Amino acid sequence: MGTPHIRILATGGTIAGSAGSAIGHGYRAGQVAIADMVAGAQALGIAAQLDGIDIAQVGSQDIGWPQWQPLHRHIVEALADEDIDGIIVTHGTDTAEETAMLLDITLPAGKPVVLVGAMRPADAVGSDGLRNFANAVRVAGDPAAHGRGVMLVMGDTVLAASDARKWATANIDAFRGYPRGPLGVVTPATLDWFGPADRTGNPARFAFPDRLPRVEILYAHAGMDEATVGALLRLDPAGMVLAGLGQGNAPRAVLSALAEVVASGRPVVRASRVDEGSVDRNVEVDDDAAGFIASRAYNPQKSRILLQVMLANGITDPARMQAEFDRR
Ligand code: GLU
Repeated sequence: MGTPHIRILATGGTIAGSAGSAIGHGYRAGQVAIADMVAGAQALGIAAQLDGIDIAQVGSQDIGWPQWQPLHRHIVEALADEDIDGIIVTHGTDTAEETAMLLDITLPAGKPVVLVGAMRPADAVGSDGLRNFANAVRVAGDPAAHGRGVMLVMGDTVLAASDARKWATANIDAFRGYPRGPLGVVTPATLDWFGPADRTGNPARFAFPDRLPRVEILYAHAGMDEATVGALLRLDPAGMVLAGLGQGNAPRAVLSALAEVVASGRPVVRASRVDEGSVDRNVEVDDDAAGFIASRAYNPQKSRILLQVMLANGITDPARMQAEFDRR
């Protein structure tokens, strides 16, 4: 294979952030145009042909449906372009796990699609942006990266989109994989995969929807009562996700109110506010009786994306929904 041709789709984030000072504390995300980032990478002597398109220049706290639509469309175009070997999406880290999840379940597992971000702005001393970007180029240009689904490259590791979780607010090593650890480790000079691609040839799990229905996340806490469920219902959501205590638990009155939400035709997924661990069916909560779906290894924010995409695809059968949460 010759020099890989990689399409960069930029959305902003700290990887394109500027502090205006190498030792400054505050900074603004999404300041550096993708052409400048590509020039910086090319100056490193990376053996890849890079071309960049700016989709957005925002902090990822402001990413949502208006950015996801053009992003998905550009990726589908790049997947169909025989001259392009891989795709990189530069992204803020705050919501990278949600964008990664959405893309992962609505794209075929063919050419590599790699999200990359940074924790320190481009002009900060010890910035991780250019290194992470160079690592992402190595992954996106590697033939062995095909058939692995959407990936996230951060902190010299490659994580599958379904596993990637942001667990730290400031460390450059801000992401972990759960339930699987990294798929591999990467540096600008090396790339080691820990196993073979497991999704080769898989089509997209779901069609990319025309819109995403409203799904709200309910955060559980000690002393909570059912009034919050009623408040969220006034927003008329198509479904709810419980960021529950421990294994997706909540006070009895809240669980009763949520069972009524299910009875009104709105699916409820029980997830956990705890960072790691599975939420399984019928452990302490009687999911069969209440009609709840257990999120298994998906955290609340990933569960929300999966539920939204299923609802948008007309999937409402609870057994089918549970099977999709059971699947990795
Ligand atoms: N909040 C910004 C964002 O997610 C900056 C954080 C980051 O990129 O690491 O884009």
